[in-house]
Amino acid sequence: MIEMENVSKWYGSFQVLTDCSTQVSKGDVVVVCGPSGSGKSTLIKTVNGLEPFQQGRIVVDGILVGDRKTDLSKLRARIGMVFQNFELFPHLSIRDNLTLGQIKVLGRGKEEAMEHGLKYLDRVGLLAHKDKFPGQLSGGQQQRVAIARALAMDPIAMLFDEPTSALDPEMINEVLDVMSGLANDGMTMMVVTHEMGFARKVANRVIFMDGGGIVEDCAKDAFFDRPQSERARDFLAKII
Ligand code: ADP
Ligand code: MG
Repeated sequence: MIEMENVSKWYGSFQVLTDCSTQVSKGDVVVVCGPSGSGKSTLIKTVNGLEPFQQGRIVVDGILVGDRKTDLSKLRARIGMVFQNFELFPHLSIRDNLTLGQIKVLGRGKEEAMEHGLKYLDRVGLLAHKDKFPGQLSGGQQQRVAIARALAMDPIAMLFDEPTSALDPEMINEVLDVMSGLANDGMTMMVVTHEMGFARKVANRVIFMDGGGIVEDCAKDAFFDRPQSERARDFLAKII
């Protein structure tokens, strides 16, 4: 579903990604980990065209990303993205947060969008909060709304960039539980996270990045039990 071939990216003269190649199949749950500044956020943002890249090739569900002719808004509509800081619209109610993209980007009618949005709000356990504003919810609840909002767009894949890093510890699990449920339902996911418990339980693959390159890309058990590189061993020793 996602094919990345020798992707390189520079910020001016600084090379942030070097020859990154990987493939994500339908239903894969790929955890992307590595030290801070290793290029994880940049990598997953290239997948939905949020970050341009200068070399290589990315194909998502048959769509060539980075081709001038590709309509990126269509691609972004089909790939859900959840960020560290929720990024809900603060001036809109939860209901309106859930429907805005469906109406503006997918052209759905208000009623259909509402029905669809509330279905996912229910699924993340927050239906009772539909008339509140983001600021009235806890961080964990806001992040669950952000996930529901992304799901309401019927994405073919979901990208998560450290979705629990900004949360108080007691709220981390409620978000990880929603993500585990999604994974169990077969959603294709790329998840940047330091939550190695989640990776062990839910991922089927792990990508380890360092210095802008993909250093390891292997089955979960192989990564945790037999990391091939010194750098991955160091990283695991520090984080676990
Ligand atoms: P990670 O998510 O693994 O922490 P990032 O992808 O955010 O890493 O960043 C990778 C590297 O690129 C870092 O060294 C960071 O400072 C640099 N970087 C990120 N965004 C920019 C930018 N807009 N301009 C210049 N350098 C950037
Ligand atoms: Mg990051």
